[in-house]
Amino acid sequence: KVRVRFAPSPTGPLHIGGVRTALYNYLFARRNGGDMILRIEDTDSNRFVPGAEDYINESLAWLGIKIDEGVREGGAYGPYKQSERRDIYRTHVRQLLDAGRAYIAFDTPEELEAARAATPNFQYDASTRMNMRNSLAMQPEEVKRLMDEGTPYVVRFLIEPGRDVEVNDLLRGKVTINSSILDDKVLYKSADDLPTYHLANIVDDHLMEVSHVIRGEEWLPSAPLHVLLYEAFGWADTRPEFVHLPLLLKPDGKGKLSKRDGDRLGFPVFPLEWTDPKTGAVSSGYRESGYLPEAVINFLALLGWNPGDDTEIMSMDELIAKFSFDHCSRSGAKFAFDKGRWFNHEYLQTTPDDELARLFRPVLEAHGVNAADFSDDYIARVVSLVKGRINFVADLWDQAKFFFVAPLTYAEKDIKKRWKEDTPAILTELIEVLRSLPDFSSKGAEPVVLDWVAAKGYHLGNVMNAFRLTLVGECKGPHIFDITELIGRDETIARIQRGID
Ligand code: GLU
Repeated sequence: KVRVRFAPSPTGPLHIGGVRTALYNYLFARRNGGDMILRIEDTDSNRFVPGAEDYINESLAWLGIKIDEGVREGGAYGPYKQSERRDIYRTHVRQLLDAGRAYIAFDTPEELEAARAATPNFQYDASTRMNMRNSLAMQPEEVKRLMDEGTPYVVRFLIEPGRDVEVNDLLRGKVTINSSILDDKVLYKSADDLPTYHLANIVDDHLMEVSHVIRGEEWLPSAPLHVLLYEAFGWADTRPEFVHLPLLLKPDGKGKLSKRDGDRLGFPVFPLEWTDPKTGAVSSGYRESGYLPEAVINFLALLGWNPGDDTEIMSMDELIAKFSFDHCSRSGAKFAFDKGRWFNHEYLQTTPDDELARLFRPVLEAHGVNAADFSDDYIARVVSLVKGRINFVADLWDQAKFFFVAPLTYAEKDIKKRWKEDTPAILTELIEVLRSLPDFSSKGAEPVVLDWVAAKGYHLGNVMNAFRLTLVGECKGPHIFDITELIGRDETIARIQRGID
């Protein structure tokens, strides 16, 4: 059975690359009728950030990435938070020690520092370990004495040099590396009674019966070590498959997209707004910037994957139906954030008008409009007229404010161009025409007004633009008779009159 896991460390806000990893895990799991696990990897207590775990949960929920097993969801393989699995790791560390695949080391940070300073490219491995303070290099009585005294220690993985280690990656094929380049990684620290990432990750993936490890390319260098760990535990036969996803790159392709790039680019690199608990600094999020979760998902899915043709707009269900690693790219994907705006625009066009109206209400309020004065139907009709011009719900204000407040000023350049000496007199006549209209709807008003302009021989462009100026404040906006129909006869006439005065 396909079982995948997304295994973030709660060390800060989940960034967009992490979200993409979660998404590909999710798509792959759903495509194959599998389970999606959310495991919180919080064994590095120094890097723990309060609020990060909630942030992860809230982000995935907002995006519609559903978790089958996790801290909140429960499940048969829990606990799903590593700091609650200490007993399990202790047992497994002991198992490696007993089998002679790991050893105890007492080197203090200062001693390690000194060793690094003394030897260029120092690596704790077969070539150096006998000069260090560990259970391989010391007398057993000495080791026992230090242990009895409660001296802090770590457990290191014993790596045999000179072996070819084969890693099979579903995207990249077989990679072979020599074990001599690996160091004896720390697996466990007695000081906080916690394993390191490597040990916890392997033990959990095994016990949780994970079938596919799908994660970022930055973990590829760790894969040989993980292969050796599976082997040391005797789990080589059930080892999960690996998929290391290509990095997200800066828009210019120069280097990895970093958490700081968001502010630099003026584009969110986090799903939700995040306030740093230490500095109070706020980083923008997709949600607060007005993105629809469906648009973000679609945008992200295509950063490193394609459906095999040039279809771009796909719902989550469509993505699931089409997803496979065959069409994943092996090279980094440029973070083309303009495309994100385009996706949002597209998704807004297919969002029902009443839903957009609902989202528009708080925007109106923020601009000082008492939105309760306007019916759902009115706002929805306004939205339908202008939504073709927006990328974000917030853009509705700029495109449609004149439906809610009469213009206070008129654009200087439009006045210059369209407001002639005879304009006030002509608009005064127009008021009369509008007053006498039997049908004030767009369809009813338009032909009558156009006939009147033609009969009088007025300049159509000047009249209509001056008319528009009084309604909108500038020469832009949707079809003029759609505007008048919505704001109604009284308001239309009052605005023209104000323009004349
Ligand atoms: N905790 C690791 C991270 O934060 C997980 C890596 C993995 O998926 O193995 O990225």
